[in-house]
Parts: sequence; structure tokens; C-alpha cells
Amino acid sequence: MDSITVRSPVDASVLYEVARADASAIERAYEKAAAAFERVRALRVAERVRACQRVQAYLVENREAVMDRVIQETGKSRFDCLSSEIFAVADAIEYYRKHAEQILADRKAPTPLALFGKKSKIVFEPLGTVLVISPWNYPLYQAFVPCLSAFLAGNAVIYKPSELTPLKGLVEEILEKSAFPPDAIQVVYGDGEVGARLIEAGPDKVFFTGSVETGKKVMALAASRLIPVELELGGKDPMIVFEDVDLERTVNGALWGALTNCGQSCTSVERIYVQEAIYDRFVELLQEKIAKLKQANRKRDALHVPDLDVGSMTTPFQVKVVEEHVRDATAKGAKVLTGGQRDDGALDFPATLLVDVTHDMKIAREETFGPVIPVMKFRTEEEAVRLANDSPYGLSASVWSKDLKRAERVARQIVTGNVSINNVMLTEANPALPFGGTKASGFGRYKGEFGLWAFCNVKSVLVDKQSSKIEAHWYPYSENKYRALSELIDALYSKSRSFVKFLKAGMRLESLANKERL
Ligand code: NAD
Repeated sequence: MDSITVRSPVDASVLYEVARADASAIERAYEKAAAAFERVRALRVAERVRACQRVQAYLVENREAVMDRVIQETGKSRFDCLSSEIFAVADAIEYYRKHAEQILADRKAPTPLALFGKKSKIVFEPLGTVLVISPWNYPLYQAFVPCLSAFLAGNAVIYKPSELTPLKGLVEEILEKSAFPPDAIQVVYGDGEVGARLIEAGPDKVFFTGSVETGKKVMALAASRLIPVELELGGKDPMIVFEDVDLERTVNGALWGALTNCGQSCTSVERIYVQEAIYDRFVELLQEKIAKLKQANRKRDALHVPDLDVGSMTTPFQVKVVEEHVRDATAKGAKVLTGGQRDDGALDFPATLLVDVTHDMKIAREETFGPVIPVMKFRTEEEAVRLANDSPYGLSASVWSKDLKRAERVARQIVTGNVSINNVMLTEANPALPFGGTKASGFGRYKGEFGLWAFCNVKSVLVDKQSSKIEAHWYPYSENKYRALSELIDALYSKSRSFVKFLKAGMRLESLANKERL
């Protein structure tokens, strides 16, 4: 087995090596998953929930040590880690603790008149082995939320973390210490090549979170084997600010939405559109507040203090993307009001405010995934909607206005999977709300009810009684039956619909069907 070197985002020093799974390790993981699947599906949902609760308890009790590991590999600030990794995972588990049994319980479906006497229901069955492939920006959340959701639905899970933040051994340790069912969630380490081999090995579903480029490859590979995929991809989320807002609150929201996790969130605020009457004051206030933020400063210890606002970026290649976007923007006429440049070799890119931004710049069109805030001006509601929708992405958005009717009208016109009104990234904070994208941001939904159904075979069951009866639509067809069926359609759905006529046509059809037997 060859290995992958994992480095510190702070000083690029080697943290450790992790063995890259080879063909036989992948084969073994699938064999173990197949065996674990039989055990997991046999557990009652309540038992699966209890296993997840033990993970929740372990994470909460051991959070400081767990966070040390996550911060060491990501460079995120400790507060970011506490809120969006620990709290968010605990909260997602809490939602399923309360609701998973009911979400996965059989549900009755209405049976139409024409199927009188029969019963219909929907049952939720597991798929088998689910492959979860995750990115590097929220390595704990992206491990536990999809994997536990798939497990709760009764599946075995193979989890491939990003090669950049694999948290070697941590997920396994948390599962083991939580007395989680053995092999129900297995971690397989490796890069994109290992990800591709894991798909080729034929899971029953792929749940992929990552970039658009990789998402396309994942889908192509899965398509050749007809494996269903769910793609949670990138974003270029707009924030629309109308002139009637409370400026203080809105600027604070913009700051956090753009800079939390150092801007490395798929739903970060990546474009701000401010109505012209308040534009100057908004930008001024934003600049003032950026200056007050406590930002990472290349010191390993600095990441661990609870009052550090903006941590470090995680990967050198993403810093290069940020630099290229800032360079492209300034070359095309944008102005940097603060930040814009890092110390040579450092990953802690400073919070950067850009104005005079236009839609021909990369910073307005491509995912930046860093601590950059491009601000643009708009005049009318129509213009704001047009600018927000002028994007290949459609993940999330926010609309800010005292006029809630207007805010909701605009929110409904923006083509995204999620939208917050007078708040930012807040749909994600509610584990009952489904999460996912439109356009290049992917498809499929997880979290909430959809988050369990995403990992189910949603099976329709229709129950009829045993009898000697022949159904009206079975063979043999005849002219009489044809006429009776036509009368039944009129009785049910025409303008002159009538229940009495339906009963007559129905009885006639039934008696013909049982007379005109083969
Ligand atoms: P990435 O696409 O480079 O990698 C994601 C994962 O895919 C990694 O585990 C990687 O090893 C694996 N991979 C790479 N090539 C593969 C292949 N050919 N077959 C199978 N797997 C392969 O993304 P990244 O840089 O790790 O993450 C950043 C991206 O993730 C951003 O675009 C961000 O917006 C997106 N993201 C989306 C969401 C969401 O829920 N929509 C959440 C977090 C991050």
C-alpha cells in the first residue's frame, strides 16, 4: 500500500502518513459492508437511533479533544469548529433521535375509488451499501451527518474522507468508543483515484459532496453502472440587501456569512448586492468591522483560542484560486478596500473587501471558497433577482428587507435549493429542512425527512384480498367492457361526473369481467 502525506495548514509540516486503500482493501471493505448490511437492516430503527445517540454523547463529552484533531488538519477557528462541526452534528442526531422512527415508519397512501376494497402503503427499505465521499471543509460534519443518515435508514456505509483532511483514525475511534455496530460505517482512505475505484466496486448509492468538476466525473462513472448518485456541489451564494434593512445587523450577518470557516463553506456568501441608497454606508461599515476581526496569524496556537474570529484556509490550491480571483477582478477594474494579499507561503489569507465588481469577473461567477467579499450595487428588485440568478450555481441565498412580503417574493424567484430571509446560512441550521442544490450545485436532498428517504428504496405496496374475482382491466378485452370502462371514465372525470353513474358503470364492468372469463 502506498500512502498519502497529510500536512498542517499552518506551516505545511507533515502531520502523518495514511495508507491509500488498494484493490484488496476496497474489496474487503465491500465484503464486510455486505455482511454488516444484514445486521444493520435487522436492527429496529429505535436501536439504530440509540447507536447514533451514543455517538452524540461521545462527541459532546470529548469535544475538546475531537476539535484539536479537526483544527490541526483544517486550520479553522475553534469557535467555527465548535458551532459547525460539533454542535451541527449533535443537533442533526437530535433531530433524528426525535423523528427517525416516524419518518421511516410505513405510511398509508390513499386508494382511489376505482380500486375500492384494496389498501395502499409506502414502506421505506434500505438500499444496501452506501458510499459517502466527502470534501475537506467540514471533515467531521461531512463524515457523520451523511453516514449516520444512511445508517439510520438501515444501510451499511463506506466512507471516504478527503485525502486533505482524513482525520486518520478519528471517525473509527468515535464509532468504537460509542459501541457502534461493527463495520456498519467503515472508513476507506485515499485520493480521487480511490474514490473512483470505490464507485467501480458497485455501491448501491453514491452520496457525493465536493466540487462540480469531480461531481461530473462521479456521475459519469456511476452512470455506466446505473448507480444512483446524489451530488452536493459548490455554490456562489448571493446576498441581496434592500435599503430598508437594519444596517448594523445586516453588515454583521454579511461578515459572518462570508467569512465563517474562512469562507470555505459551500453556502458562504460569495456575492453581495446592496441597494444603491445604502451602498456607500454598507461598504464603509463592512470595512470598519473587518478591521476589528481577530484573524489567524500563522501561529498554530492562535487557532485554539476561543475568540479567534477567522481561521486559516486549509489548502494551498484553494488559496491560489482566491488569489487568481482577486487578481482577475483588480485587472478588470475592481478595487481592494482591505486585505487582498497574504504573507508569502501562508494559508491565512486576510479577509478581503472588493468593490466595483462586475459580472464579467471570476469573483462574481466562479466559486472562490475563501475570505473574499465582493460587493455590488443594484437599483430595483427586478435587477437584484436578475443578478442573483445570473450564475451557473444555485445552492443557497439570502434576502434582507424589513418588507417581508418583498423579501419572500424575491426569495421565491431566486433559483436555489435554500434561501434564508433576514439571516444567513440559516436553513442549514435547522436539521428538519432538506438541504441541496439546483443547477451546477447538484441535486438530491439530505437532512430532514428527505435525508433518510435519500438512502431508502421507497417501496409502494398495494394489498388486495384473495378471492376468485377477475379484475375488470384483465383479459379478455371485449366491446362491452370497453363501453363500460368509457362510461366509468365519464362518470369519474367528465364535466357531468356522477357517483351514481360511477357505481353503475363499476358494477357493470365487474359483472362483465367475471362473466366473460378466458
Ligand atoms: P473535490 O471535488 O476535489 O473532492 C471531494 C472528494 O471527492 C474528495 O474526497 C476526493 O478525494 C474525491 N474525489 C476526487 N476525484 C474523484 C473521482 N474521480 N472519483 C471519486 N471521488 C473523487 O472537492 P473538495 O475540494 O474536497 O471540496 C470543496 C468543494 O466541495 C467545493 O466546491 C464546495 O462548494 C463543495 N462542498 C459542497 C457542499 C454541499 O453540501 N453542497 C458542502 C461542502 C463542500
